[in-house]
Amino acid sequence: MNLIIPKKAEEILQKLNDKNFDAYIVGGCVRDCLLKRVPQDWDITTSAEPYQVKKIFNKTYDTGLQHGTITVCWKGEHYEVTTYRIDKGYDDCRHPNEVIFTKNLKEDLQRRDFTINAMAYHPNEGIKDYFLGQEDLNQKIIRGVGNPEERFQEDALRMLRALRFSVQLGFEIEKNTYEALRQQKNLIQKISVERIHDELEKILLSQYLEKINKIWESGLLNELSPLLSEQMKIYGENVINQLKKAPFNRIIRWTIFLQYMTAKQGEEFLKYLKFDNDTIKKVTILLKNLKCDIALEEYALRKKANEINIEQLQNLLLIQEIQQNKNIEILKKYFYKILQRGDCITLKTLAVTGEDLIKQGMKKGKEVGNMLSFLLDIVHRNPEKNKKEILIDIVKQKLK
Ligand code: ATP
Ligand code: MG
Repeated sequence: MNLIIPKKAEEILQKLNDKNFDAYIVGGCVRDCLLKRVPQDWDITTSAEPYQVKKIFNKTYDTGLQHGTITVCWKGEHYEVTTYRIDKGYDDCRHPNEVIFTKNLKEDLQRRDFTINAMAYHPNEGIKDYFLGQEDLNQKIIRGVGNPEERFQEDALRMLRALRFSVQLGFEIEKNTYEALRQQKNLIQKISVERIHDELEKILLSQYLEKINKIWESGLLNELSPLLSEQMKIYGENVINQLKKAPFNRIIRWTIFLQYMTAKQGEEFLKYLKFDNDTIKKVTILLKNLKCDIALEEYALRKKANEINIEQLQNLLLIQEIQQNKNIEILKKYFYKILQRGDCITLKTLAVTGEDLIKQGMKKGKEVGNMLSFLLDIVHRNPEKNKKEILIDIVKQKLK
């Protein structure tokens, strides 16, 4: 079978072959080509050792030298070229104690996590598939290479990867692989939260969310957040339905996933997963506002838009629409009108500034700040009053 691979990747294989080294494209990109999905990246595996790879290509970076990985920059594109290797001993459930280079492709494929990720391809040789990855692809199965129990003990992140591929591709996790996952779920505690965070986010941004229930049914989620796990056992179906309707937007999807938590609980969970402050802020604001009903009037919407910002209000209305809030159509109509007219929402577009107030004899600081808020509220109530003369008149009246 011929796969369509980038010309530049093929040239890298050829250059390695010219020096009598074996080289294949490997892993996720072979899987994705076979599934007619667009690969994220093109990885190359080779019998050449890193120093030999570096001799062949002018421009390289030592990205993961200790694991045999060199990034080759070829005609402006970057490719990861990794020496065939065997990973030995994993005492910490995360990293191999030792990496040994080998000349044997099969041994390299054997260290990979799942059969569908353990295939290599060369345009002259076709697909190298020692572990029946193609069969599992056709059957839509995620199956560990070799003994799944051992494979999860070596690197516990693979459990979350199994679930991620299942949700990304719409595949089932093979029975023994799933059983091993259920048995060893507690090992996930050994994995750094950053890696867990990345996998969870990929899961939430996946297409086949009907498969996400395994993350709590297996007990894995309970290891990360007993509270969230309990909530999903009760409300999971509802959450799945909502996630399936949501756009591929991380803030919206995280908010839907955490919707049964209070804003404080959501914040704690995201902090534990080492999310950036911006994401934490956005999700917690949405969590806080999800349960609050916005009054059915334009004023309330303008006020809310100022409070949480326009983009966040847009997200909030989108989630409420997914949740089939009974008033959503009216709120959407009002919001649309507000945007269309370009009503003043924040102090930035208020027709008077602090400077203008100072010219009227007001004191810099709190006094001016309070007056601006007062004027903004007037404008939120009556957008047509956002004119300098009108607002200055109001100020003059007040100062009398
Ligand atoms: P994607 O890039 O779409 O997230 P991928 O399968 O390409 O998925 P990568 O993390 O890019 O995943 O890894 C590339 C390949 O390296 C995998 O296909 C697999 O063969 C191997 N691999 C990655 N992580 C592991 C792991 N934790 N254990 C064993 N093999 C792994
Ligand atoms: Mg990849």
